[in-house]
Amino acid sequence: MNQGFTVWLTGLSGAGKSTIAERLAPELSARGCSVEVLDGDEVRTHLSKGLGFSREDRDINIGRISFVASLLVRHGAAVITAAISPYTLARAEARRRIGDARFVEVFVRCSLDELVRRDVKGLYKKAIAGEIEHFTGVSDPYEAPENPDVVVDSEIETVEQSVSKILAELAKRGYLTADAKAAVPREVKGVL
Ligand code: ADP
Repeated sequence: MNQGFTVWLTGLSGAGKSTIAERLAPELSARGCSVEVLDGDEVRTHLSKGLGFSREDRDINIGRISFVASLLVRHGAAVITAAISPYTLARAEARRRIGDARFVEVFVRCSLDELVRRDVKGLYKKAIAGEIEHFTGVSDPYEAPENPDVVVDSEIETVEQSVSKILAELAKRGYLTADAKAAVPREVKGVL
């Protein structure tokens, strides 16, 4: 069985966490990993329904994501989380719970100017107009990681470049045993 690990994507809304998660997942599958994506928006509709955006609620949300990730990692899964996770302390707690050696923190960087220009979900303009309270980066804090394992910059990189950087870090750590072309389907692997 492959060793489990978590790729913990952190960054402002619209920085590219979900996009990167979606593109990284099939790359990991192709390398024989059993992949699960825990996407922030999805988690908030199911696991964390009803939680708001106060610090306390955000910490509870991140705690739930890291709890589920830790269970999956224990069973050898490659987990990708895509949640803003703005607080250093909550991310450190996630690292502790999942295990330092199984936790890859990826800072998805993008300037506020570019995010306002993109405004993927139309939320920045509303937040700047004062219509949304607790909006990370505008009316709520974002504590950028000081020592992330990988930094990707969606302002200057293509999605492919960002995904490649993450794959390189995972390979360097020895998490990826098979390369994409040589990847053997899991069913076949079982009988070899
Ligand atoms: P988040 O999950 O962080 O809120 P999304 O993935 O939903 O962000 O949106 C990011 C937007 O930025 C998408 O429209 C995506 O196409 C765009 N984008 C541009 N360059 C990149 C990049 N290098 N990596 C990820 N997203 C990018």
